[in-house]
Amino acid sequence: MEGKLYVLSGPSGAGKGTVCKQLLAQNPDIVLSVSMTTRQPREGEIDGISYFFTDKQTFLSIKEQNGFLECAQHFDNHYGTPKAFVEQNLQQGKDVLLEIEPVGALQVKEKMPQSVLIFLNVPSKEVLLERLKGRGSETEETIKKRMAKAEVELGQIGLYDHVVVNDLVDNAVRQIESIMGRK
Ligand code: 5GP
Repeated sequence: MEGKLYVLSGPSGAGKGTVCKQLLAQNPDIVLSVSMTTRQPREGEIDGISYFFTDKQTFLSIKEQNGFLECAQHFDNHYGTPKAFVEQNLQQGKDVLLEIEPVGALQVKEKMPQSVLIFLNVPSKEVLLERLKGRGSETEETIKKRMAKAEVELGQIGLYDHVVVNDLVDNAVRQIESIMGRK
């Protein structure tokens, strides 16, 4: 039997990365898709584990050859899900998880309607603003841009199969496990 494809998405600042990490630690059989990106590696990130880091030309040529299940530009960088890896693992009956931004998540739903889209939301816009400010790495300008993007993303929440509010990471992970039929 084919595995299921789960897509964890939501605004930047919702805590997708943290939730995803804990979910995978508790469920090591879930296969995480490693994305390709044109952004520069951050300290501690490892090529092939955090992302496949590449240049814009290579990225666009893979896109041209239909090598991505979905791809999107997030602010100044390109991100994409390598298609073959996802397809192979699903065929082997494994559950595959994508942790991606909303433009890509909606592309996945269109291409694979059987995929399960989970929107990880913040408890409120105030909390989102606090989280973005708390990162310390964002300028006033980028915080404004991220808040504006989040507004658009929240307007599309009805297109998702499930909404999980990330008030506490443990709660959010438990809800996602339940959606995945694991608890
Ligand atoms: P970051 O640069 O902070 O690692 O990621 C920025 C955003 O890109 C996050 O919202 C992350 O979920 C999203 N992202 C990571 N990989 C992919 C991908 O393959 N496709 C899409 N559409 N978004 C991605």
